[in-house]
Amino acid sequence: MEAQGAATGSSRIGAAITGFVLHPASARHDTGWGHPEHQGRLRALGLAVERALPVLAGRVFPLEAREAAVAELLRVHAREHMDRVRRACESAAARDGLVALDADTIVCGASWEAALGSAGAALSAVEAVVDGRVKNAFAACRPPGHHATRVRALGVCLFNNLAVAARSLTAGGAARRVLVVDWDVHHGNGTQEIFYEDPDVFYISLHQAPHYPGTGWADERGAGPGAGSTLNVPLPAGTPAAEYRRRFTAALAEATSRFEPEFVLCSAGFDVLAGDPLGGQRLEPEDLYAVTAELRALAERRCGGRLAVILEGGYSLERLGQGVVAVLRELAGLPPEGA
Ligand SMILES: [Zn+2]
Repeated sequence: MEAQGAATGSSRIGAAITGFVLHPASARHDTGWGHPEHQGRLRALGLAVERALPVLAGRVFPLEAREAAVAELLRVHAREHMDRVRRACESAAARDGLVALDADTIVCGASWEAALGSAGAALSAVEAVVDGRVKNAFAACRPPGHHATRVRALGVCLFNNLAVAARSLTAGGAARRVLVVDWDVHHGNGTQEIFYEDPDVFYISLHQAPHYPGTGWADERGAGPGAGSTLNVPLPAGTPAAEYRRRFTAALAEATSRFEPEFVLCSAGFDVLAGDPLGGQRLEPEDLYAVTAELRALAERRCGGRLAVILEGGYSLERLGQGVVAVLRELAGLPPEGA
């Protein structure tokens, strides 16, 4: 397919299949000592990807991330919410310290640029896929996004990066219907709420339950025109990987039996891996490789392979790096590590 792109003069970047996007401002989002969502996460992720470069090179290509525009955030968030986040960041800058929006959600003076950059990374990822510069993309977003609701920052999330990307696709006409698959160990209450009545965005979440934030029960299935377009798969802590993967496959099949996506977005939380300090599941990087393969196959079948994976949680530095590399290998069509 790369040769074909070159032959037809398309703007596909060399032989690159997968775009990798990280906004530099994300690294400056400081949440303080001892906070699990700390600045070391992106550093660990970057180092792991760098170490995998001999394998990834030529197939995974770094993409430049832009900032999200206010108008793009307003497709998802209330202006009051944006203003509250901006004021908190300004006040942190003025005192050269940290400001808490809730018990877990902390900002510093650089967090405003980080938040715009994080949402911008998700936008840049989907734009590169829509333009055909890459086949699929991974956005290393920080701060994460899936707990942020229309009106509220929550659970380390300021803006809902994935929701901003999904709305840019539907608003801009690049995709009429978007399938969102969220495998973070926590339920993406924000994403669910934003699209709860929206028939054009189908939200699937597999998550640990009972667990933070306490939402995502099987009877939460969407409402109004969006009735039936939310599919929650709550799973107890310690669910065996084989069972998790069976439920993942079944959820994809159920969703696509009644929803025809034109783009697939994934909220990838690496806190679903065994050993994460904030999770209790048993997946290994090879399981994430396998579920990514399912997503990619689904995207190939249904929407020309258009798929973007958006980083959410993942709080063990070692596991985060291993998980991201496993996902990148699969997106780029490489065999799993050790295969
Ligand atoms: Zn999480």
